[in-house]
Amino acid sequence: MSVERIKTLIIGSGPAGYTAAIYASRADLKPVMYTGMEPGGQLTTTTEVDNFPGYPEGIDGPTMMVQLQQQAERFGTEVRIGMITSVEFSDEVRGIHKAIVDNKTEIEAETVIISTGATARYLGLESEQRLRGGGVSACAVCDGFFYRGQDVAIVGAGDTAAEEASYLANICNKVTMLVRRDEMRASKAMQHRVNSIENIEIKYNTEVDEVLGDQVVEGLRMVNNQTGEKEEIAITGLFVAIGHKPNTDIFKGQLDMDETGYLITQGKSTKTNKPGVFAAGDVQDKEYRQAVTAAGTGCMAALDAERYLASNE
Ligand code: NDP
Repeated sequence: MSVERIKTLIIGSGPAGYTAAIYASRADLKPVMYTGMEPGGQLTTTTEVDNFPGYPEGIDGPTMMVQLQQQAERFGTEVRIGMITSVEFSDEVRGIHKAIVDNKTEIEAETVIISTGATARYLGLESEQRLRGGGVSACAVCDGFFYRGQDVAIVGAGDTAAEEASYLANICNKVTMLVRRDEMRASKAMQHRVNSIENIEIKYNTEVDEVLGDQVVEGLRMVNNQTGEKEEIAITGLFVAIGHKPNTDIFKGQLDMDETGYLITQGKSTKTNKPGVFAAGDVQDKEYRQAVTAAGTGCMAALDAERYLASNE
């Protein structure tokens, strides 16, 4: 296995990772970034980003991520397509942290910035998993186009589900929205929006019993969790919008996490429990989860890494 020694390894390529890369490369830490399986992160699955400061007309997610990459590369960040498949973090101050890339290359890094983000959750039904890619999707903005003029359903009642339901309503013939409680979690503004769209039907106290179809989604069996009553509808697409899971599996046993797997950082810093290992973005934030807050913590992680290296020279 080939071994490469670097100052700063950045794992993950969303707004947190790229902002860390911009700051780290300007501070001459010569960062190497591994993008992970979804280069650009979750924003590449969005269309318009209207709430990132500095874009008065909004910007589409993929374009924003390309621009962030270009900005990081302008200062010398090396962006590599690849997955970090395992890590071995040192407990020592000035210790060397090891990371294996795609099970074949070993990186030895003085500092590591983790910005691996979070991934969409699924319901866990066998029929749902079998039909992923065959009509079951966790990203309306990525896949909604394929269901133009058709009937679809969406599960979830948070802001994501509400936003995606209204997005789908624009493209599709009818959107059935399944809400498991008698009210939505989404903000009042988003609730108002979905309530005012004619081709969205909201079903409260309703859950997915089974996704119907062999190779592709053909329908949905729903169950009312108050009455037990079941109902089938014909749909061609099911969108799952029930929240996210932090991408921290490879850090288990090495880094402190909360009960749902989010990395724990110390106080106001991005420091993890290992010296020289920092965490930024959604991987350590289940509360705000915005591009701009991720970018902010990415900046903090690079500054924390720079100070750590300076104090240890
Ligand atoms: P949330 O965790 O806020 O909501 C998840 C939703 O899925 C909840 O309504 C939950 O139901 C439901 N759910 C969870 N598990 C199941 C299940 N097994 N079956 C059925 N329903 C289920 O996630 P979001 O992705 O919606 O939002 C994440 C964060 O991002 C939030 O803070 C949100 O405000 C923010 N956000 C903001 C946006 C904006 O401002 N434009 C856009 C999108 C997200 P229950 O309510 O019963 O727990």
